[in-house]
Amino acid sequence: MAKIAAVIVAAGSGTRAGRADVPKQFRPVGGETMLRRTLAAFADVNTVDIIQPVIRREDGDLYRVAAAGFAILPPVVGGTTRQDSVRAGLEALAAHAPDIVLIHDAARPFVSAALIARAIESVAETGAAIPALTVTDTVKSVDAIGHVDKTLDRSALRLIQTPQSFAFKPLLDAHRKATMQGRADFTDDAALAEWAGMSVAMFEGEPANIKITHPEDFMRHEAQAVSQLNDVRIGNGIDVHAFGPGDHIIIGGIRIAHNQALTGHSDADVGLHALTDALLGALADGDIGSHFPPSDPQWRGASSDRFLKFAVERVTARGGMIAHLDLTIVCETPKIGPHRDAMRAAIAAIAGLDVGRVAVKATTSEKLGFTGRGEGIAAYATATVRLPGS
Ligand code: MG
Repeated sequence: MAKIAAVIVAAGSGTRAGRADVPKQFRPVGGETMLRRTLAAFADVNTVDIIQPVIRREDGDLYRVAAAGFAILPPVVGGTTRQDSVRAGLEALAAHAPDIVLIHDAARPFVSAALIARAIESVAETGAAIPALTVTDTVKSVDAIGHVDKTLDRSALRLIQTPQSFAFKPLLDAHRKATMQGRADFTDDAALAEWAGMSVAMFEGEPANIKITHPEDFMRHEAQAVSQLNDVRIGNGIDVHAFGPGDHIIIGGIRIAHNQALTGHSDADVGLHALTDALLGALADGDIGSHFPPSDPQWRGASSDRFLKFAVERVTARGGMIAHLDLTIVCETPKIGPHRDAMRAAIAAIAGLDVGRVAVKATTSEKLGFTGRGEGIAAYATATVRLPGS
């Protein structure tokens, strides 16, 4: 059996994709970073034995989050050009002596298992193969002042994607030769392979395998990914905790000084408990008590962000996303208003959401009932969850 490796090139600074602070491969597309989607696409294909990511040195922290949980090689640091970065990946793979290597850009997160399989199949014939699309638009060349020079014969043109697949040793040799001869201007590995005298075959690319370059690409694909999550669920959750002696309460993920504390088995964060139940409700997946029994001593004094994170992970595991969290807190004291935005930020951070998707509201109960008598705090939560349509 041929040993198959993949180099995932994620070493770009991605300034064209809008936000200068986070390179595009670390920006989310439909709730997941582009790089994580790309790594998952390759990790899911059993025939790919080794995955070698290439990143920028300064992106180490972003990388660790994006790659968490995947059984892949530690990243190597890329160079100043794409060609340098690919070569760094190939040199790192040399110790593993793969037979075949696929080179793929992290900016193409929609690569399918079928396309990866075609790349592997096609390389066997010639030692080098690249995915290509026919050109359906008319293509013209232009002169220096932007006037049409001529109309090109589109039947002879192809749009080239990645993954590009190669016999490993010849491609490594070609990269080394190019570096030795001071050639650093190849924009893809096929161009370098052609220069080195390799014959490059083509296989059918995929229109959906687009390269994300511009901010509008992000928005279009965010919208596309979200629209596929059309099983929309609303869950609600209610929780109550009683006051007892103490000098602060934990609520909505933050600590508020108060002349009493909330009593309970965990940290008694009534807000996060209601939100956890709302998410589990939307999933029809039990409740906080069934997943974290109060009888289990390991949850004594537990920080409730663990419960909320657990529920969020259940949504992610179903391929879904949280569209909105809405929490209402009912108490006479303490005053919640001054802490509202801190709670929203804390909840958003725990749930991995934009703060614009988290609402916190508060009301008294006009001195009526147990909340009105100051005996405890009640919290009501609603979660809107989008799951993949069936
Ligand atoms: Mg509770």
